[in-house]
Amino acid sequence: MERLTMDRLVQGHKRFLDEIFPGRQAQFHLLAEGQRPGVLFVTCADSRIVPDLILQTQPGDLFICRNAGNVIPRCGEPAGGVSATIEYAVEVLRVRHLIVCGHSDCGVIGALLAPESIKDLPSVRDWLQHVTPAWDYLDEVELNAGELTRHTALTHANVLVQLDNLKTHAYIRRATGEGRLQVHGWYYDILSGRIEKYDEGRRKFVPLAA
Ligand SMILES: [Zn+2]
Repeated sequence: MERLTMDRLVQGHKRFLDEIFPGRQAQFHLLAEGQRPGVLFVTCADSRIVPDLILQTQPGDLFICRNAGNVIPRCGEPAGGVSATIEYAVEVLRVRHLIVCGHSDCGVIGALLAPESIKDLPSVRDWLQHVTPAWDYLDEVELNAGELTRHTALTHANVLVQLDNLKTHAYIRRATGEGRLQVHGWYYDILSGRIEKYDEGRRKFVPLAA
């Protein structure tokens, strides 16, 4: 796969201005006045996840929070801007749905399986502490899922960790309790393009689009 160059970026922006923007001026006029996203999408920084492509959403639809491993820090844990972004989305923008979406071939899960690969990366090593509890969820995931690679099972488990971390925040418990916020755990498979959702009743991941 060819690496993106600055030239191609600039050309892309030029094409957007010349060919796309003129036909969508009304839409961008509305967007310029404010945003009213329905969904907060928390996913990995991985370049292969393009939410607007795989969900066919439009500018203004998704409020997106991305970081390595789709982490949601527990209440009181310092973790950059993640907590602030989520709090703002839920309390100010009043999104109706919060989706935590892990994915296949995730580098963070890879690091969890091979910690020596990141031994010279102190920031990544620190960050990994937010994902490490996935090991504790592994048994349950594997028990309910049947055949899964260890990587996939850990990725599923990590989504469950982050969903549990969400519940440590009082405003999340309040919003879900009042019925104005629904929380979802997803897994995106890059090769097949398919998304799975966590079914809380069956305690397993099932296809999102049956
Ligand atoms: Zn990832």
